[in-house]
Amino acid sequence: MKIPFHAGLSESPPGRSLLLVTCWLFGCLLSSCAPERSEELHEFTGLTMGTSWSVLVHAAQLPLTRPRLQSQFNTILNRVNTEMSTYLPESELSRINGSDGTDWLTVSTSLMHMLQAAQDISRLTQGAFDVTLGPLVNLWGFGPEQDFAVPGEEHIDAALRLVGYERLHLDPAASALKKANGGIQIDLSAIAKGNGVDEIADFLERLKLDNYLVEIGGEIRARGVNDKNIPWQIGIEQPVAGQHGVRKIIKLENMAMATSGDYRNYFEKDGVRYSHTIDPRTGRPVSHRLASVTVLHPSAMLADAWATGLLVLGPERGFNLARQNELDAYFIIQDDEGFKEKFTPGFKPYFVNDNNNQASQL
Ligand code: ADP
Ligand code: MG
Repeated sequence: MKIPFHAGLSESPPGRSLLLVTCWLFGCLLSSCAPERSEELHEFTGLTMGTSWSVLVHAAQLPLTRPRLQSQFNTILNRVNTEMSTYLPESELSRINGSDGTDWLTVSTSLMHMLQAAQDISRLTQGAFDVTLGPLVNLWGFGPEQDFAVPGEEHIDAALRLVGYERLHLDPAASALKKANGGIQIDLSAIAKGNGVDEIADFLERLKLDNYLVEIGGEIRARGVNDKNIPWQIGIEQPVAGQHGVRKIIKLENMAMATSGDYRNYFEKDGVRYSHTIDPRTGRPVSHRLASVTVLHPSAMLADAWATGLLVLGPERGFNLARQNELDAYFIIQDDEGFKEKFTPGFKPYFVNDNNNQASQL
């Protein structure tokens, strides 16, 4: 089954493993305290953006019936998808990508909200995060076609000539955009799941639900406490393809978390792994030793974008930039002996405790 949107490999949707880790952790926490699952924990699940989503709500009573809530979640996520999917030919973004003119185009306010956030993170990461990478995402096969291939130099150079966030102009007051070059193709996959999480979380808050965990493909936002009246606990997994080992457990209170890594979404050719995260400076998949970056931020959308940008920048530049911007970020770096980790000072209070984090020194 091919689900529209996002470059997720269909057999291993991005974030699936984190979802499993999350469920596993809930399982552990619940079983250690009480064998019965509390009736106050309400779970909703579904598929969107080429991956799975889940919402957990801890409440004595739901303000709407379960089917009503489920359908509201679906409506919100379908709307996000029909605005920003590059997999749906009729989406607002596909229509913008399909227009090869350079006139100002009016866009929906929610798409503008996301584009503005994307451009801010592009400036802050000196272009490491760049949503105009569409031609390169497609060239490497991570677009809707999913035909993975190592392109030739001249194709990469040609695609690079169409890329550059400074060539995309925004007029937020008029909710309009203008491409400096008609060939510019926007790809919001690195920020869209985070945005979807924020949309659902904001909806729950409008319903006055204070204890929830929202997750789409591994990007998470949590508020309040779980049904054991403790903050929600999330596993950061070992960055090993095909495995779901938990490396760290962190508690998320009124905070979002996003992870970008090189181990979930990639293809291999002649023994080389090609990640779906592309370095806009080279036009090629990132190839350094940074295996994953986890970012905490009140906004899931910004956590998502930052995680991708820092992953592109790599273990040193990415880490320095995280510190300069006072981000709470956790880096897992591959070396000859295994994995090392480093994290910014603000990340430390989120670790649950050392007993639960024995894998940290691997
Ligand atoms: P994940 O799905 O693993 O959470 P990300 O949030 O990092 O992934 O998004 C990766 C997707 O974003 C890619 O599949 C591609 O469509 C797009 N992309 C790749 N490189 C970049 C980049 N440097 N900046 C912005 N978007 C990117
Ligand atoms: Mg991202």
